[in-house]
Amino acid sequence: MTKRGSKDKPSLELSLGLLRYAAPRMTQEILFLVMAAISAISSTAHAEWIGESRPMMGTEISVYLWHDDAAAGQAAVEAVFAEAMRIDNMMSTYKEDSILSAINRDAANGPVAAGDELYSLILRSLDISVLTRGAFDVTYDSVGQHYDFREKRRPNAEVIEDELQRIDYRFIKIHPDTQSIEFAREGVRINLGGIAKGYTVEQGVDVLRNLGIRHAIVTAGGDSRLLGDRRGKPWVVGVKDPRKDGEIAVRIPLENVAISTSGDYERFFDEDGIRYHHIIKPDTGLPADGVHSATIVGPDAVITDALSTSVFVMGVDQGLRLIATLPDYEGIVIDASGRMYYSDGLQPPK
Ligand code: ADP
Ligand code: MG
Repeated sequence: MTKRGSKDKPSLELSLGLLRYAAPRMTQEILFLVMAAISAISSTAHAEWIGESRPMMGTEISVYLWHDDAAAGQAAVEAVFAEAMRIDNMMSTYKEDSILSAINRDAANGPVAAGDELYSLILRSLDISVLTRGAFDVTYDSVGQHYDFREKRRPNAEVIEDELQRIDYRFIKIHPDTQSIEFAREGVRINLGGIAKGYTVEQGVDVLRNLGIRHAIVTAGGDSRLLGDRRGKPWVVGVKDPRKDGEIAVRIPLENVAISTSGDYERFFDEDGIRYHHIIKPDTGLPADGVHSATIVGPDAVITDALSTSVFVMGVDQGLRLIATLPDYEGIVIDASGRMYYSDGLQPPK
């Protein structure tokens, strides 16, 4: 494992396999590993661990929680799925009656009311665009819509060149008074695929917290939000090996934080030795290369989700430099040769 940053800190051997995440401003110390252990939760034979996974939002959403009362626990699980459904109905580009679809249809003709929640999430995505100098850009979808990874379909050079004229987060005009969105030109499209799952798990944990639950994990695809610990033990979250299916590259003991991974191995097809996948460079309209996966840990899943996508686009150097400026956020990047880099806040156990 390669260590970036100050040389006076001990470097971590990959064989240790265990990183320590010490977030400077967080009250609790966090140890962590990777996602593989989640499946172990339900099989630990505590009847009070309740969990379920369902296909939703084009991925799998899962909820595991501790509750003394199985019926109340099951109701809490349902409440999280209901919340995910509510968000999807608002923000999906696949659902024609979502508010986001209405924006994509009409916002070039004038402001479209987004409502408080969607408006706020679009504002947050614009903040991330500014922070990442456009590496994160929800208007990537003008080109993005032409990729179909299941059908192995991709846009040709002419289509990309044409659609690139509609990609720029600055084409999104905001109207705070009416919480409306307007597009500066015809054909601009917003897709929140790089931030909405983080929002969903953050909201899901909020639902559980309000129900008095203190130990839970809510996952949507590559985004997880942990609530509390695993009853006296940290959750152990695994970062997948991006090229060895089913294997874990590194395990991280964590509690009460969010962790998001963006990888080029979830939605992709290979053609002539090139991997076409779902994380798009907004300036070229092509899948970002140079990185196989980017993982971000921090207090807010909306941010970890958007940043994992951003760091994937930015690459190892720029990406880790950005993470170094954000005190509460840490990252692990695996590059195209399988080398692992991690930010300064991730340290080997003492
Ligand atoms: P996953 O969807 O597997 O959790 P990510 O969090 O990395 O992975 O999100 C990838 C999604 O983000 C893509 O499917 C697409 O919807 C969206 N996306 C792709 N490229 C960008 C980009 N440059 N900026 C913002 N969103 C993007
Ligand atoms: Mg993401």
